Amino acid sequence: MTQKILILGGTSEARRLADHAAKAGWSAVFSLAGVTTTPFKTALPMRYGGFGGAKGLAEWIDAQEITHLVDTTHPYAATMSANAFEAAMLTGIKRLALWRPEWQAEAGDDWHQFATMDALFQAVPNNAHLFLAAGQEGIKALPQPPRFQVTARALEQPDIAHPITFIKALPAADPDEEAVLFQAHHITHLAVKNAGGSASRAKLEAARQLGLPVLMLARPKPPLPPLFHTLDALISALSADMAGG
Ligand code: NAP
Repeated sequence: MTQKILILGGTSEARRLADHAAKAGWSAVFSLAGVTTTPFKTALPMRYGGFGGAKGLAEWIDAQEITHLVDTTHPYAATMSANAFEAAMLTGIKRLALWRPEWQAEAGDDWHQFATMDALFQAVPNNAHLFLAAGQEGIKALPQPPRFQVTARALEQPDIAHPITFIKALPAADPDEEAVLFQAHHITHLAVKNAGGSASRAKLEAARQLGLPVLMLARPKPPLPPLFHTLDALISALSADMAGG
């Protein structure tokens, strides 16, 4: 049977995997949830939008004759990861899941972890100016009206009752650039998810430089094993199958 991969995307690693698959000539489809209005493209065939839960995904896998399911979704995309695990069980195909290690605090960091966004927002003082870097879901979870000033950065601005300062952008890779942004907005606190990886770490280094407290939403539980902690390890495992198939 010809090997055919379904890549569940939403991360920089997923895009790198797509580049690798295209260059290697692997048969693969790249899937995005379709939550942004201008989703990026890869060199692979693309599909957008949900599958309709684990059963819907299993049906799609069967219909498309997928042999390998690669879960390179974001660590906080817990529903999709659980669905991927279940769909792989239902169809009997191989699943490979990436689980980025969490960021760890270093000397000089002032990090505080919270189980929910509600608990996190409750810890923000009334006179604070919060920089909210926790995606659209983080913005939607804000108390209405917020008790404190908010500047939020995300790829899309969700509808909320009370306006906030919104920056439509990806995080900067340079800590100095993030520090300049925080200073320009008179930021006193930073709210983030513990995404891990290097793509959005600069904001934490900027917070350390400026002595800002970081309020961090705790990670969901990891998906069930087996898990790969680096994209290179996942690609090696996949390459072995593609070479054999
Ligand atoms: P989620 O809560 O785990 O998933 C919600 C639903 O969205 C899933 O049940 C599935 O719908 C659909 N979905 C999610 N990822 C998909 C994909 N790659 N292809 C097709 N359908 C997908 O996910 P989320 O937290 O809303 O995140 C949505 C997307 O944004 C994910 O791809 C994730 O990698 C990316 N992302 C998330 C975060 C974050 O902090 N959560 C940050 C950066 C990027 P059905 O059940 O109908 O199949």
